[in-house]
Amino acid sequence: MPMSERVMVRQGLFTDGEAPALLGSRCTVCGAHHFPRHDTCPYCSTEDPVPTELSGSGTLWAWTAVTSAPPGYQGEIPYGLGVVELPEGIRVIARLTEGNPSALVSGQAMELRIVPLHTDADGRDVVTFAFAPADAS
Ligand SMILES: [Zn+2]
Repeated sequence: MPMSERVMVRQGLFTDGEAPALLGSRCTVCGAHHFPRHDTCPYCSTEDPVPTELSGSGTLWAWTAVTSAPPGYQGEIPYGLGVVELPEGIRVIARLTEGNPSALVSGQAMELRIVPLHTDADGRDVVTFAFAPADAS
C-alpha cells in the first residue's frame, strides 16, 4: 500500500523527516530565540532575526487536555496541549501526544514529533508538530 501524501498544517513552522525541528529565529542583538519566526525581535525590536532550527527536546512546564474542538479544528479530541521549555530558553505552546494529564509530570523530558492531525478533502495526511514524553517509543 503506498504511503499517503503528507502535507503540513502550515508551512514554515517545522521541518518534517528523521529529526524534525521547529523553525524559529534568533536575535543577533539580545540573543533571544523566537517561535514562530519573527521579522522583528519582540524583545528589543531589532529587525531581521536570524532563522534557526530549535532544539527537538525540552522539558514539560505546563499542560492540560483539550476536550472540545476549537473552531476549525478537525483532529481528534481529547488531546494534550502543553508548554515545553526548550534549552534556548523559550517556552513553546504545542500539542502533546499524551492526552491524559495525569500521565505527565512537571519537568519531564519531551521530544518533538510530527504527528497526523486529520485527513484533508484530497485524502492527504495533514501533519503537525507535537511533543511526546521522551521515554515513549
Ligand atoms: Zn532582540
